[in-house]
Amino acid sequence: MKIDISYLTSPQTWFSRFPISSRIITSNLLGNRHFNVHFTEQIPLICYTKAFNIWKTKYRDMITGKDPYDIFVTGTDISYGRFPLFYIFTGALDNIILENIKTEIVFLTANTVLDFRIAKILLKDKRKVVMGGSATMIYEPHEIRTMLSHMGVEAEAKDNLIIVSGYVDLKTDLYDIFSKWVDKTLTENDFSTFWDCTEDGFMDYVKIYRKLFGTNLNGLMTSKCWYGKCRFCTYGCLPKVDFIDDVSVQRVIDHFKTLRKNYESNNIFFNDSYMVNTPYNKEVLMGLTEEGFEVSIYTGVKLLNNKKYLNFVNEVNMGRLCIGIESLSNYALDYINKGYNFSDIARMIEGLKDNLNPSITPIFLIMCDLPVSSIRRIRTMYRALYYMRHELASAGIGNGVGCQFNLSPLRHYPKTNLIDGEILRHAHNRKDLMGILGLYEYFHEKLGINIDEVRNTNVLNQPMHRYLPDGEQIKSDIYYVDEKFIKDIVEWKFPQGF
Ligand code: SF4
Repeated sequence: MKIDISYLTSPQTWFSRFPISSRIITSNLLGNRHFNVHFTEQIPLICYTKAFNIWKTKYRDMITGKDPYDIFVTGTDISYGRFPLFYIFTGALDNIILENIKTEIVFLTANTVLDFRIAKILLKDKRKVVMGGSATMIYEPHEIRTMLSHMGVEAEAKDNLIIVSGYVDLKTDLYDIFSKWVDKTLTENDFSTFWDCTEDGFMDYVKIYRKLFGTNLNGLMTSKCWYGKCRFCTYGCLPKVDFIDDVSVQRVIDHFKTLRKNYESNNIFFNDSYMVNTPYNKEVLMGLTEEGFEVSIYTGVKLLNNKKYLNFVNEVNMGRLCIGIESLSNYALDYINKGYNFSDIARMIEGLKDNLNPSITPIFLIMCDLPVSSIRRIRTMYRALYYMRHELASAGIGNGVGCQFNLSPLRHYPKTNLIDGEILRHAHNRKDLMGILGLYEYFHEKLGINIDEVRNTNVLNQPMHRYLPDGEQIKSDIYYVDEKFIKDIVEWKFPQGF
């Protein structure tokens, strides 16, 4: 017997890159003759077109000086996929979600706890929900059910929700799971099948989205991080994945050639935490750039301080290097246990100026609102970022642009050890515990969850809030930074003649 299902992805996964998960799940579901699948591309599309229009207006306001700071918050909200979710929090998307779901059973891939709101809407409407996605690998099923019960759908979740945690691959028997209707943890995978997943159920959305933003085909070789100690990172919670074990270089290249045709996109973004210099990686990357792809990777300060590694980056002819430097403050870098300090960053900048192929653009990822030693340090840090760009630009890097910055607000990442007792000692009441940009205000204000109760269940870690070492509570970085610097840093520049 065939089962009619709708496949609904987290709106958060759709920003600037076409996610791997939607290709894998689409290919899996379409390849299973037991399913009739309905795709629901209208939901992310509406989220992003609305958000994009608002973002455009805000950007204009900032450039004309009408509203210099708002764009900062709004822009980073978009990049974290939080802004589209605003519509979900306010209930503006509730009807859109329900109108576009035509089946009783919905397969929802949840990226973070924010997507549990979508599950709540569906459960309240008496739909049957199968929840998968990365949130199910960070939270245990009983933790998810606890949160849903705080959201008022305990009874509905009991009978009408199953949680499928772990990775789905092309061969995972989802029909068996849907038929048995009990929670399931997936532990066995054939990750090599990833390279056969080239279809996307959201292709209509992809085509429209492509007109709004630059797009990248998401790629991944392995999910391992050689360092793995940053205190804000959830990477360690996720099972390790190796997509290239026993896979030929040619198969990887052919995969992207098919994707190029299907998505009409020439940009590949490798999501590996660090793209390391191995003969295999080099052969794949060189093969792709020789095929005319623009390839971007994540890399790090320590790697880039290695001459051999810089040669590898130049030889492969990379497009963009994403570097999570997070902060220029030793105090903040220590706090998050990043494993390097400001002098390592300064050395990296000198090395890039002297040795990086000028056509390669570094993109520095900066985490705002990290704990700091003084307000003065916040100001000097943003000023230093400004000069960093101009120094790299003078050396011709990034085709004369220097570099780009991506600023993200510090937020509460579940199951990490970033929050320590020091913060809690300073917090006297619940209001203190609601970070300016943290998730807690959302939990409380928008979702109506009783934070104290949720905390007592130990489902969540403590919220983020910051204080100076003398105990003075401080606001977000943006309130202390000179407007000239923040404007320059948030503005994405394009090479001359672009
Ligand atoms: S932030 Fe990056 S470097 Fe740090 S542990 Fe996570 S993946 Fe590794």
